Amino acid sequence: MKSKIQIPFRYDFNLAMDETTWAEVWQCAKEISICNKTREIQLRILHHLQVTPQSRHRMNPNLTEMRSKCQVEVGSYRHCIWSCIYIEVY
Ligand SMILES: [Zn+2]
Repeated sequence: MKSKIQIPFRYDFNLAMDETTWAEVWQCAKEISICNKTREIQLRILHHLQVTPQSRHRMNPNLTEMRSKCQVEVGSYRHCIWSCIYIEVY
């Protein structure tokens, strides 16, 4: 059975990870840094709690849905976390 967290990842990133891999993902998110802010960001990403330009636009259509860094693509979750040219350098 997939958790509520695994389903958006499968949809957004086209990733089907087994339970063992998810356990490793959770462990890595907890151990990535001793900095609480860094760990918080990792957990916010995993829980889909980061507000993206696209989700912000859904809440307020007056706001742009374009990614502010690149200004060339819609700021979807996948784009902001994974495929934006500003992220790809990492
Ligand atoms: Zn971009």
